[in-house]
Amino acid sequence: MQIKVIPCLNDNYSYLIFEKETNTVSIIDPAEYIPCEQELAKYGKLDFILNTHHHFDHVDGNLKLKKKFDAKILGFHLDKKRIPGIDILLEDNQETSIGNLKFKVIFIPGHTSGHVAFYFKKENVVFTGDTLFSLGCGRVFEGTHKDMFSSLNKLKRLPLETKIYCGHEYTKKNLDFCLKYDPSNLDLQKKAKSVISNNAKKSPNIPTVLEEELKTNIFLRCCDFKVKEALNLQHSPEEEIFTKLRDLKDAF
Ligand code: ZN
Ligand code: FE
Repeated sequence: MQIKVIPCLNDNYSYLIFEKETNTVSIIDPAEYIPCEQELAKYGKLDFILNTHHHFDHVDGNLKLKKKFDAKILGFHLDKKRIPGIDILLEDNQETSIGNLKFKVIFIPGHTSGHVAFYFKKENVVFTGDTLFSLGCGRVFEGTHKDMFSSLNKLKRLPLETKIYCGHEYTKKNLDFCLKYDPSNLDLQKKAKSVISNNAKKSPNIPTVLEEELKTNIFLRCCDFKVKEALNLQHSPEEEIFTKLRDLKDAF
């Protein structure tokens, strides 16, 4: 599995996946036609488009790419009216493949009501769209905080070595937020150095690894006593901590 990061719009990431044995080319969340098309020109084909959710900055390239390359578009069945050009409706926990690459659909509502992740177990890779970001999580638009919290918990249960490819480069802003409420976290301080150096080189902070996120991403650390203490919610359940953090982040 070869993954190419395609920066789109201001801070979006689309991803090209190339599977050599069967010469299968796929794109996850084509945010824009032109940058994706330029990358695809090297392959001269596009077999599949996979959409994590219906927002325009994840599907805007769908129709033009489909027309040009005759690609098939895969998305969650609940979004069949909202994902432009959708051909193949996916179900929660469904296992399917693009070429020789098997993946599982994980339903993770909260950001939108039809949001999914694509998990490639053998390759240790997950595409999380706007649900789990590097050092952050997505805004809760269509679901409840409870939905988002349980969706993040689903992702937390993946193997520690899972590489996370998310929909946006929000790492630096997320870092600043994590540092504000978790300042004594040594892993976070170490991570800060690599984020700052990546940003100086203009290189993506993607992929991040689940094990690292569990130690540094405050939205995955709602059980941590120091985080609870920073919010003055020492005795609150994790879900309440999550809700508080999400509200604070919305206003950050
Ligand atoms: Zn979105
Ligand atoms: Fe987005």
